[in-house]
Amino acid sequence: MSELQTHDDEILIQGKFEELLKLCCNNTNEEGIALIRKAFDIANEAHKGIKRRSGVPYILHPIAVAKIVVQEIGLGYKSICAALMHDVVEDNPNFTIDLVKSVFGETISYIVDGLTKIDVAFDKEKSNQAENFKRILLTMNDDIRVIIIKIADRLHNMRTLGSMPVEKQQKISNETLFLFAPLAYRLGFFKIKSELEDLSLKYLMPEAFEEIDAKINATEAGRQDFFDKFINPIENKLKESNIKFNTSARTKSVYSVWNKMRTKSVNFEEIFDLFAVRIIFEPTDIIPERTQCWHIYSIITEIYQSKNERLRDWISTPKTNGYEALHCTVMAFGVWVEVQIRTKRMEEIAERGFAAHWRYKDDTAQEEEVDRWLAKIRDVLVSPETNAVEYLDQFRLNLYSSEITLFTPKGKTIILPKGVTVMDFAYTIHSRIGDKAISAKVNHKLVSLSYILNNGDQVEVLTAETAKPQRVWLEYAKLPRTKSRIEAALKAEVQGHIELGRKLIEKKLSEFNVEPQSRVFIKLCAAYGVANKRELYSKVGAGIIELDDFEKQLKKNPPQKSAIYWGFGLIQKIIPGTKKPIKEDETQKTDETTTETTKIDKKKTFLLKETFEKKLTYKTENCCNPIPGDNIIGFEIDDGQVTVHRQECPEANKLAAEHGDKIIKVKWTTHKVQSFLALIDMRGIDRIGILNDTTKIITGEMNVNMRKLNVESHDGIFEGTIELYVHSIEDLNNLITKISKIKNMESVRRL
Ligand code: MN
Repeated sequence: MSELQTHDDEILIQGKFEELLKLCCNNTNEEGIALIRKAFDIANEAHKGIKRRSGVPYILHPIAVAKIVVQEIGLGYKSICAALMHDVVEDNPNFTIDLVKSVFGETISYIVDGLTKIDVAFDKEKSNQAENFKRILLTMNDDIRVIIIKIADRLHNMRTLGSMPVEKQQKISNETLFLFAPLAYRLGFFKIKSELEDLSLKYLMPEAFEEIDAKINATEAGRQDFFDKFINPIENKLKESNIKFNTSARTKSVYSVWNKMRTKSVNFEEIFDLFAVRIIFEPTDIIPERTQCWHIYSIITEIYQSKNERLRDWISTPKTNGYEALHCTVMAFGVWVEVQIRTKRMEEIAERGFAAHWRYKDDTAQEEEVDRWLAKIRDVLVSPETNAVEYLDQFRLNLYSSEITLFTPKGKTIILPKGVTVMDFAYTIHSRIGDKAISAKVNHKLVSLSYILNNGDQVEVLTAETAKPQRVWLEYAKLPRTKSRIEAALKAEVQGHIELGRKLIEKKLSEFNVEPQSRVFIKLCAAYGVANKRELYSKVGAGIIELDDFEKQLKKNPPQKSAIYWGFGLIQKIIPGTKKPIKEDETQKTDETTTETTKIDKKKTFLLKETFEKKLTYKTENCCNPIPGDNIIGFEIDDGQVTVHRQECPEANKLAAEHGDKIIKVKWTTHKVQSFLALIDMRGIDRIGILNDTTKIITGEMNVNMRKLNVESHDGIFEGTIELYVHSIEDLNNLITKISKIKNMESVRRL
């Protein structure tokens, strides 16, 4: 085979290797350079005469991978050696891992071995991607450099994918999109991630790629004009402040435009955040970087109005993948523009990943620092016992840390395990906050109690005096200690109601000089339709039963006379199929019930009440669905019943015009049991999760029951109607207020 390697090839290869060496000189000592040369010699020998599909000598591939490793990722000489030799053992049986070990020692041979094993896994045509991913992650447990070099390897393969047959292009692009791009992102290699995505899209959806790419290019000039107009006043001010800086307009990648068009179903023309402005500056040593970032922020916001809820401080709390920057969004010439403020160091980390960070450290310490960083990541990975998909999820949760740091609005730090919810956070601050929680603002955005918090989130728990622990909260809570606190609160609440109910009833009884004897209670239980004393106390305590008519109930059937009646009641109870005692009781009511059904005093205001059988003393009409609290008008209809419409209901207008004599004054009383149908209409800009956010709010609202949800989305607009049951207009208004606060929700109104 070696005769196939021509002199020209040799010159080409040497030239490429020299380029690589030049890149290494800056931060590699002589010993390192010598090892790199040795690795190259071995690789060159092993791949001698072998060509890539494109016709170039094979060795150019490992050289290119090594180049990516040093230039685009910033790893040291051990990684460069491993990258150069990553295909040696697999491709040439004369070169074994033992040989590599004997020349390069433990670390490098370990990385080469890991890379070889991954390749073997990927070569199997089965392409079980989840399984492949697991294999990769397992390697990560050992040495993350294996993964990083594998990403570099994949990047170069993607860059040279054109010469592969179409079906290979598809397979490799799919794998890249599924495995390598997310992995690159998690490791903080934003630039590589973006390139991997773009290349994958180019091979998977060539037409879409070309179309978007062409449009991005065609609109470039207009963007440049806008950018110049936007940046000029900022640049002038920055110069006045003697800040050394660079500005640039960063256009979204083809892939992210495509992804946005797809997920939000919008046209290219409708994507308004097509670019972001970046300001990269050289900080001075005297003032902290963060302060300098905020200084630039204040310069910008003196010129343009800023949107405070879009402010992101990734400096005080960097993202878990190491990303640091200050992001703000400002209004300029009628358009919202995102501005990213960062130092040169932050820029390098953002573009090349966290490993780039160590470039700023002392040369000799570099490898050591990388090792320490790798060890840290390794430590937090869990042992792989589950299946591949579960493992992947666990991996995502545990990549950098099993704990997250959260902040109160005042900046107090709270450290909790990953995966905790707002509910857990609320109870961690204080049981009182937990008990009264209704929702929260995370980074100023409204979320439900079940929202899962992320590292660095600033959490403001919203409370309401009327809020109290709900059984469903047990599902929201992730921490056992939160669950036990909720359980305790639920128990205490029932106990509290019982205590309160007991006091209220005993007070009433003493007002009327009645002894709290058991037969009095049997009577009261029947009158109020409850099974026992405990339920009576608890319902009275909770306000479900009101004692307005207590005197009537007592006087109507004085205890001493009621023995016969009680006998009757008890018989009713034990004979199945007979009517409930409460029914009998109602027919015995001489005044109230009969007047209601037969004669209505039009001079008096008719009170709209509910009975404890969840029945109403009146009817509501479904032309306008009145709800307690609405302005209403009542009519006496033919059978002596009262029907209620909303004041503005056209049907009511008609009725009032035709049968003015049937109008009666009506007034709502409190309704605790009966719910009323209400319709809500909503409209907004469609985005992923808007529906989910909406249902979460509705289901989290304790006095609301959803019946139907109808949603349509077209041309990026989200439209829907909700049918739900509420107790009162207050409940409904609360809900509407909450739904209107959902991001991208434009209007919410009752129908
Ligand atoms: Mn390779």
